[in-house]
Amino acid sequence: MPHYEPSVSRETPSAHSAQPYADTPIAAAAERASQVLTPGASGTLPRPASPRIMTVANQKGGVGKTTSAVNLAAGLAIHGLGVLVIDLDPQGNASTALGIDHRQPGIASVYEMLLDDVPLRDAIQRSPANERLYCVPSTLDLAGAEIELVSVVARESRLRNALDHDVLAELGIDYVLIDCPPSLGLLTVNAMVAAREVLIPIQCEYYALEGVGQLLRNIELVQAHLNKELHVSTILLTMYDGRTKLADQVAAEVRGHFGDKVLSTIIPRSVKVSEAPGFGMTIIEYDPGSRGSMSYLDASRELAQRASVEGGLA
Ligand code: ATP
Ligand code: MG
Repeated sequence: MPHYEPSVSRETPSAHSAQPYADTPIAAAAERASQVLTPGASGTLPRPASPRIMTVANQKGGVGKTTSAVNLAAGLAIHGLGVLVIDLDPQGNASTALGIDHRQPGIASVYEMLLDDVPLRDAIQRSPANERLYCVPSTLDLAGAEIELVSVVARESRLRNALDHDVLAELGIDYVLIDCPPSLGLLTVNAMVAAREVLIPIQCEYYALEGVGQLLRNIELVQAHLNKELHVSTILLTMYDGRTKLADQVAAEVRGHFGDKVLSTIIPRSVKVSEAPGFGMTIIEYDPGSRGSMSYLDASRELAQRASVEGGLA
């Protein structure tokens, strides 16, 4: 039995059966949901020529890193691509949202990959969310890793060295999304050395760009000393509240700064998006026809269509 089979199983919600009143908002959402969930109906997206490895980073806390990593991953998977999410945050929120039981004693996690040379093959699990969606979970042990890594050989390249490309090929992985903790410590540096691209989620709120300058300087340092290929490829605006002028000002400022790196899809603030992880689900499973789900589906489509700019398509 391969190690990557799901450790938990559960029911997918089916609260979206068709309604007879096609012109009500609920009926419209139900119709969108059934379109999203019909196999093949979402269409397929272009496969990158080799796996795109992306770090989802912003040392500012609570800007939507984890939410974006898991929901973009689910969006890519529903469009037929293979995706691996590496949960590099001791909080383990990405593992939870992907329905991975990461509190079981003795499971192999990213901690063992980084510090005990446990191979990717033994730490990877398939998410019950989608047969093409995988996760390397994190456990609370990872909280100590920032300190433990300091004295380890090749401490900045542990994740890169552990990312076995044969396993990625065997499982048909097209995208690796690494969910970083809200800090610029050794875990985030490991993510930046392992990846080629950085995706920065920016919250449409006061002080949105606070700390982004420091993040960019760190990316430059990693680029200069550890990983020449690293660059910021994608900015995603999150938690947009259309009722406030501020959200539009922030969006315009970020676009002025980062130009076409900013995805044109903006993720709206929505209670459903924040509820989904509590059920161990992505928004696309939890409420497929909702605005949050549709926006992450659009963002994942945009991300994949930009692959041709990034490194070619298969
Ligand atoms: P941390 O820095 O702690 O890792 P993060 O950057 O990963 O945080 P998230 O955990 O994704 O951020 O989001 C922070 C909080 O905001 C969570 O409670 C999440 O459910 C909520 N949230 C994220 N995106 C949205 C959204 N579009 N609408 C409403 N709530 C959201
Ligand atoms: Mg997070």
